[in-house]
Amino acid sequence: MKTASGMLLIRNGRLIDGTGAPAVTDAALVARDGRIIYAGPARGLPELPRERTEIDARGGTIMPGLVEAHFHPTYFNVAQLEDLDIKYPVEYVTLVAAANAKLVLECGYTAARSGGCLFNIDFWLKKAIENDLVPGPRLAASGREICGVGGLMDWNPEFRKIGMEGLVLLINGPDEARAAVRKLVKDGVEWVKTYPTGDAAAPRVNDHHTLCMTFDEMHAVVGTAHNHGLKVTGHCRANAGIKNALKAGYDALEHGTFMDAEALDLLLARNTPVVPALQFEWASIERGREFGHPQEVIDGHKETLEGGAESARMILKAGGRLGLGGDYGFAWNPHGDYAKELTFFVKYVGFSALETITCATKSGAEIMGRGDEFGTLQPGKLADVLVVDGDVLGDIGILEDRSRFIAVIQGGILKAGQLGRAGIA
Ligand SMILES: [Zn+2]
Repeated sequence: MKTASGMLLIRNGRLIDGTGAPAVTDAALVARDGRIIYAGPARGLPELPRERTEIDARGGTIMPGLVEAHFHPTYFNVAQLEDLDIKYPVEYVTLVAAANAKLVLECGYTAARSGGCLFNIDFWLKKAIENDLVPGPRLAASGREICGVGGLMDWNPEFRKIGMEGLVLLINGPDEARAAVRKLVKDGVEWVKTYPTGDAAAPRVNDHHTLCMTFDEMHAVVGTAHNHGLKVTGHCRANAGIKNALKAGYDALEHGTFMDAEALDLLLARNTPVVPALQFEWASIERGREFGHPQEVIDGHKETLEGGAESARMILKAGGRLGLGGDYGFAWNPHGDYAKELTFFVKYVGFSALETITCATKSGAEIMGRGDEFGTLQPGKLADVLVVDGDVLGDIGILEDRSRFIAVIQGGILKAGQLGRAGIA
């Protein structure tokens, strides 16, 4: 992805630098050739050349671009889970993914980490974004997901003879787990997404207390992935699945729903980050009936919402790391709603706005393994900046409203917001 050339000054705003430090009033940010050289009080501004681009934050907020930590660009606001890999061909889903990449950038997300994709689209989408063919977030690619046979993601009955190849690699035992990871190595992904546990979406046979992979399978996935420099994460709701993942050496946990003191100790000892994705649960409860979900599914989501919120509070309090992202791409939780995750963490989970923003910027970049490149507004980092018309700390909900974005900037280049339309500068 190109970076800007020349000098950029953003002034007249309240600076949230993403480190968790209190906001600085009457602040300014300066970037040279796409990298930050100053972010702090306006009175400390260095001498600047006359030739520069200047953005007036109008007394609003200057903050790091957001990081969507669990993004599914290929999910097409699907109403029926079983439509995911069979409704459209790869050609169409690729175009959908490109449109979602543009949308997430317009929503203020300058980076995103995939939580799994259809076919092998993420890897090529990432390439297209990096080559400035299409606008989108700096992307960490995931691929087809790994799940045990008969587990949560293995829903097509045998008689249909269509398998699950476009969405998941189904495994029986450690050898097949290794073989699946090797396919993903060839696909070029960075993250291996697995299904250690079930979910409220599949009551009884694969509910949120059910295991969908054995420890030996998970351990084989980690050994093979790490050997090739790939990271491993997993859909972890059941307590035993969380502990298996931590003991197997997972690099992150998705959801981390039912933590307990022992799991927390394991998590902290390894400094493993968690992406709870809670707005999805809320949306499933609020809108599930509209989409024909049975009561037992909705009840299950109530349980995973309460468990997930409690676990997130426990992790934050203990000094663990949380990324914010939310499984957007389902009919009841569509693309474009990404920042509802932040509002939910403030209004429902009880995080402060500043804590929430730190999770959604700094921690997100760290989970992507790129914390030294972006995620905070500090000298040396890429100028991935969001300029917002309004006080985000006073009302986090402003971030849900794209029309309030003055500028969405990647590497010093204006990509979206009132001052620029998403596109290649
Ligand atoms: Zn997901």
